[in-house]
Amino acid sequence: MPLGEFDLIHTYFTDIGPVQRVALGVGDDCALLDMPADQQLATSVDTLVADIHFPSAADPAAIAQKALRSNLSDLAAAGAQPLAFTLALSLPQSDEQWLAAFASGLKACADEFSIPLIGGDTTRSRAQTVITIQVFGAVPRGQALVRSGAAAGDLIYVSGTLGAARAALDVLSLAPATLSVDQQTWLRRYYTPMPRIALGTALRGVAAAAIDISDGFAADLGHILDRSEVGAVIDAARVPLSPSLHAHPDALPFALHGGDDYELCFTAPPAARTTIDAIAARLQIPLSAVGVITAARELSLRTPAGQTVPLLREGYRHF
Ligand code: ADP
Ligand code: MG
Repeated sequence: MPLGEFDLIHTYFTDIGPVQRVALGVGDDCALLDMPADQQLATSVDTLVADIHFPSAADPAAIAQKALRSNLSDLAAAGAQPLAFTLALSLPQSDEQWLAAFASGLKACADEFSIPLIGGDTTRSRAQTVITIQVFGAVPRGQALVRSGAAAGDLIYVSGTLGAARAALDVLSLAPATLSVDQQTWLRRYYTPMPRIALGTALRGVAAAAIDISDGFAADLGHILDRSEVGAVIDAARVPLSPSLHAHPDALPFALHGGDDYELCFTAPPAARTTIDAIAARLQIPLSAVGVITAARELSLRTPAGQTVPLLREGYRHF
């Protein structure tokens, strides 16, 4: 007998993440959250569709990790602290093995980031698994990081390294036993990106503009440029390539245009440099200055050979 809707919710989704701060969690018509005083609610929602955002045969625990982590990355980009999340699941069937693995991955991630699951919706779909997660976070009033604050002369920073998640797309269907060490790193970066929550909160009052790199560096920086009505020059030699791409011919294009890295891209005036270096040292996260914001509204790349060429804002696009 397949598990019914309410048994399914009760069995797998009532005990995910710490519940101490939740006034009312899974099981009622609405969940209730107590908001910290003088904070604004930051919220974001993202949908993952099987065979568009992940292979349907992928490990369900890894799918859950990717789904929650990519949402947490949006909170990080806003400088918000995670509060809670909801989960809307559409499943072609009630497959207990899949559900148990999915719930275990979700729980591991929810515990790691101390974010409780407070509600959701469970429905049957015709063919595809569709996973929608909405996250809620708290940010001190007026201090959220936004895309619109970049100004000419700001330095442009990127956290961590780029490109490995894009490289994973080409090896997603290979048998695990055949993967090289580098290929395993790509898959880890793809399924378990590191949402930069601590960095986001540390950048409040320091960064002028911020975004998380979900579609690709050039595409996402492009959103900062549009919202801030500025341009940028990027120095290719300073773009932090994932060391796992050391032997990959497409390392630079992957870093510039590949999605799924979930690092932060932010801008700050040059005077903030020592503060930013101190944040990098304290959090043990590399923060690379990769370029500068310009008044001229173009996006350019200084190539390793020293030429300046247009940097296309290409990244992952659905349509
Ligand atoms: P309603 O019909 O009032 O919308 P539902 O029957 O859809 O409520 O859900 C019952 C309870 O279970 C609600 O508290 C809802 O938030 C929760 N819930 C449903 N699906 C999920 C899920 N996938 N994960 C977490 N909570 C869920
Ligand atoms: Mg419902």
